[in-house]
Parts: sequence; structure tokens; C-alpha cells
Amino acid sequence: MGYLAIKNLSKSFQNNKVLDRINLDIEKGTFLSLLGPSGCGKTTTLRLIAGFERQDEGTINIGGNMIDRLPPYKRNIGLVFQNYALFPHMTVSQNIAYGLEQRNFTKGEIKKEVSKALEMVQLTGYENRKPRQLSGGQQQRVALARALVIKPSLLLLDESLSALDKKLRVDMQIELRQIQKNIGITTLFVTHDQEEAMTLSDQIAVMKDGKIIQIDTPQKIYEKPINTFVASFIGQSNFFYGKIKDHLQFELQNGQSFLLPHGDYSLNKGQDCIISIRPEKIRMDRNRPSHPHIQGKVKFITYVGNLSMYLIEALGLEIRVQNQNHNDGVPFEINDEIFLSWDSGNQSILFE
Ligand code: ATP
Repeated sequence: MGYLAIKNLSKSFQNNKVLDRINLDIEKGTFLSLLGPSGCGKTTTLRLIAGFERQDEGTINIGGNMIDRLPPYKRNIGLVFQNYALFPHMTVSQNIAYGLEQRNFTKGEIKKEVSKALEMVQLTGYENRKPRQLSGGQQQRVALARALVIKPSLLLLDESLSALDKKLRVDMQIELRQIQKNIGITTLFVTHDQEEAMTLSDQIAVMKDGKIIQIDTPQKIYEKPINTFVASFIGQSNFFYGKIKDHLQFELQNGQSFLLPHGDYSLNKGQDCIISIRPEKIRMDRNRPSHPHIQGKVKFITYVGNLSMYLIEALGLEIRVQNQNHNDGVPFEINDEIFLSWDSGNQSILFE
């Protein structure tokens, strides 16, 4: 059993099942993001772990201890929310000291711990400011220091960077990840921002409709999504719906067919399936390649600096391709006849 072990956690609000048998098992020190669209149950999962709500079924274990019957203040969990929830009338030091006072630390210990926490978040010198005298990023750091000063066994962050502007947010992501790694604290981070989840996490749990659809490293989630939901929620993908026939032939639902890249398809032959291929994994050639390919025509080009996104019309479908630009500009034009191909290792065969 991992350091944080959640088994079959379910929760309904007025007959609306918002969490449906969630399972999580993660090692100590892991940074895991719960990623999913609005309303999929991310915050509810955190609230159950923190003890603000009671689950209908299931168990929560931290470090081998069953915590689900403990009140929130006995769970030893650090929390940071989107709006930081700092006490406005208290100074930075008083905000950070609060949890230690509740736990009856001595004055001397509190002073020492608050000073260490301020140093960790690079706010030494801001002790006597009130939250309103701080920028958004600084308030965010105070909230983090306040959560960590009690030396929690688990850190829960709920959309905690989403109120910051883009530049500050990226800086804070790096800072947060460094602090988390330095102290080795197991962290659950809620976000609906896929890019943020990719940059920060050791592992991502993709959620949908109260269920965890896939838990994996960011790279696995991107390279080997288990279904079309994961493949389209994280990045973009082209989906070819159809059947693998003989001799690498793939028959699309619209009746057209093309040859798949060389590979072993014996297991999936004859079954309805979906070939998923990311736009940047597709090669685009002017000359007909000798390996399997699809012939198409450029319909639309979006210039994005060092690369361009192409919409290709082929097989009665629209296929998205991302391609590097040359030093002298975009190498293809609208209405160019082109040939598309990719390696079998870059495609995923999906069943939903
Ligand atoms: P977001 O990204 O928008 O914050 P989320 O994935 O965190 O969404 P939750 O906040 O966990 O989603 O909510 C999941 C579902 O549970 C939603 O449909 C929400 O309306 C419902 N819900 C959450 N809390 C309550 C409550 N106290 N009473 C009734 N319904 C609730």
C-alpha cells in the first residue's frame, strides 16, 4: 500500500453521485495532479481527504493510518485554496503562526518555525505586513508557508495558482515544485489546466464524471492515453474511427480506407477501434513516400512562429498536422497536394 491510499471513495449530494469509487495509491513524496473538466469531482475529492465532507463509502489512509474518522484538525493536512483564505486582520507572521498556536507550540518555537517558513518562501522581511499589502504571488506564498509550517503529512492545493497572471503563475509553478521536492512532501494538486498539470506533476490522475479515467506519468498520459477523452483533454489528437482489415488496411466508418504504418496489428484485427495520432507526430511530404501514407490537400494554415498548424483534407476527413517552419517561412501553401505518414509507435489504438 502506498503512502496515500484511497479505496473506493464515493460521495453523493442529494442523489447526485459526484464521486464514484475513486482509487488512488501513491508513494511518499509524489506530486499528483487531479486533472479534469469543471464539475468532475476534483474539489470534492480534496474536501473528503481534508475531512470537510464525509464520504458515503470508501477509506482514506495516510502513512498506514486510517484517517477517515478523524476531524479535519487532527488529520495533519496542509491546505492551500484558490483564494488563499488568509486572515486579513493578521500580519504575515501571525497568519503563518496560527496553526502552531493551535497546536500549543511555545513562543520560542513559533518564532523559529515562522522564520524558517518565511525563508523557504522567500518572504523574510515581510513579517509585519498585512495580506492587503502584498501582491497576489506573495499572498500565495504566505498561504503555502502557513500550510507547510505545521509539517503536514500531506499537502492539498486546490486551483491555488489560478488567480495569478500567466507570467507569475509560471514562476510560482517552478517555485512550488522546488519547495515540494526539497521537503519531499506528498502533494495533491487540483487543476483543470492540462499544461500546469504536465509541468508540475510526477503523476496525473485524469478525472471525468466522478471517476478516475487514467493515472500515469505526464509522458504516459500524453503518449499512451487510454481513451479518446484523455487523448483530447490533454493536447490534441486526430481520431480515425473504423476497423483494421487485412494487410495493414484500415477501413474508416465512412467507407474509405488507408494503409497503417508497418506494425503488428494481429490482436486488434477485425475489431471496431479508433486510431489516435497527435498532429506533431504526422510527417508531411511533397513527394509520395514508399511506406504507407495518406494523400491529402492543404485546406488551412495557422502560423504559430516556429511551427504551423495545417488542416488537411483527406479520406473525406479533416486531419490536423503540426509541422516545423523553415527559416524562410512556412514550407507549404493552401491547396498543395501532400502525403501524410507516421510511425506505428506514435499512434494509439483505442476502443472508446
Ligand atoms: P471545478 O473545476 O469547477 O472546481 P470540480 O471538479 O472541483 O469542479 P467539484 O467541486 O468536486 O468539481 O463538484 C463536483 C460536483 O458536485 C458538481 O456537480 C457540484 O455542483 C457538486 N457539488 C459539490 N459540492 C456540493 C454540495 N455541497 N452540495 C451539492 N452539490 C455539490
